[in-house]
Amino acid sequence: MNRAIIIHYGEIGLKKANVDYFLKKLRRHVKTKLEKAFSRTFDLKHTLGRFLIDLDDGFSLEDEEKAGNILGKIFGIKNYMFVFGGSLDIKELGEQIWSRLPNLNDVETFRVKCKRSQVLPYKSVDAERQVGAELLERGIDKKVKMKEPDLIVNIEFFNNFAWFTFKKHPGQAGLSANSGGKLVCMMSSGIDSPVAAYKMMKRGARVIFVNFHAYPITDKSEMDQCKNLVEVLSDYQFDTKLYQVPFGDFQLAIKGVKTIPDKIRTVLYRRMMLRVAEKISKKEEAKGVITGDNYGQVASQTAENMFVIHEASNIPLFQPLIAYDKEEIIEVAQRIGTFEISKLSCEDSCSVFMPKHPELKANVFDTIRFEEELDVEEWSEKLLKGAETIFF
Ligand code: ATP
Ligand code: MG
Repeated sequence: MNRAIIIHYGEIGLKKANVDYFLKKLRRHVKTKLEKAFSRTFDLKHTLGRFLIDLDDGFSLEDEEKAGNILGKIFGIKNYMFVFGGSLDIKELGEQIWSRLPNLNDVETFRVKCKRSQVLPYKSVDAERQVGAELLERGIDKKVKMKEPDLIVNIEFFNNFAWFTFKKHPGQAGLSANSGGKLVCMMSSGIDSPVAAYKMMKRGARVIFVNFHAYPITDKSEMDQCKNLVEVLSDYQFDTKLYQVPFGDFQLAIKGVKTIPDKIRTVLYRRMMLRVAEKISKKEEAKGVITGDNYGQVASQTAENMFVIHEASNIPLFQPLIAYDKEEIIEVAQRIGTFEISKLSCEDSCSVFMPKHPELKANVFDTIRFEEELDVEEWSEKLLKGAETIFF
């Protein structure tokens, strides 16, 4: 029996004149990721507003699971299904579905759901009723329930073929990866910035990462934790680059200037990080910087402090989590697989150099005056030069 994967896309379908551009990106992403994982070619046919990938008999259940793990992380996909080929003749199709029914021990209710090509002589509702009747006739012994049944028999009628399955897998939705320009994400080892990167990737941004760490003043744990997070996120886009910037010397330099009050240090770190991120953006021809900032969450995130931090750079900032509740952020982090890594404790550069009582209401004029003790331009150049890059 024929096997295939059907992929439905969501928002991309609303793109009118630009739909082809987004579909091309989606097709390339699916093809590249599957072909790399399986070391063979896959042919994606675009038909009736969806993608169809024919599979051969050798495609095992383990292969399905492997392919599902890949498709489940590709932006633009609304849902995907591993389907069996069937007949357009309802009686024959009923028999084919019957012969493929999964274990029904935990199933009390079911329904049939059809989508059909316009050229077919029957309507979807009629086909649903008739296939349902075929199954009942063969003794399916379960109640029909239209809303939230335990089992849905999904059927898609194409012009000369039907496809059916008992499971529809939800996708990530959003817009195709790399469809919307390049951004640099300031990435810590915490919970928020990985979620911020994910959110922007989901809108089509190609994300390049930069992490500031205090190794060798601290141990390597923060660097490694950040690297592990970027690795998880790299599954969601084509190719991924991480800049690791040693930041400890700058933090020590600030600590060493007696005229700079301890409490303003965190704001000065953030300003310098932003300057370096801006330089990386220019080098990479990226059009903005993403941060995981969240209004009011920590001391650096008051309106006053954020005003002063943002003053250090002119580049557009993208802060997709700014008004999220922490629980909402954690929910996403758990779903995308970063939470378990982020929650591990590590020696993070900011905490190590954190003042006891950080400033909550920084003043921009005072802050600029404090910075006059350091050559910020020279420091930002030096930090950029010290960066190492890793590719995923
Ligand atoms: P996160 O959970 O992302 O670490 P946070 O709640 O701890 O965020 P802050 O520590 O104030 O908040 O950091 C705010 C933002 O600044 C982070 O979301 C991140 O974008 C950026 N940032 C903080 N520390 C670093 C770092 N070491 N390297 C790169 N970016 C950083
Ligand atoms: Mg943090």
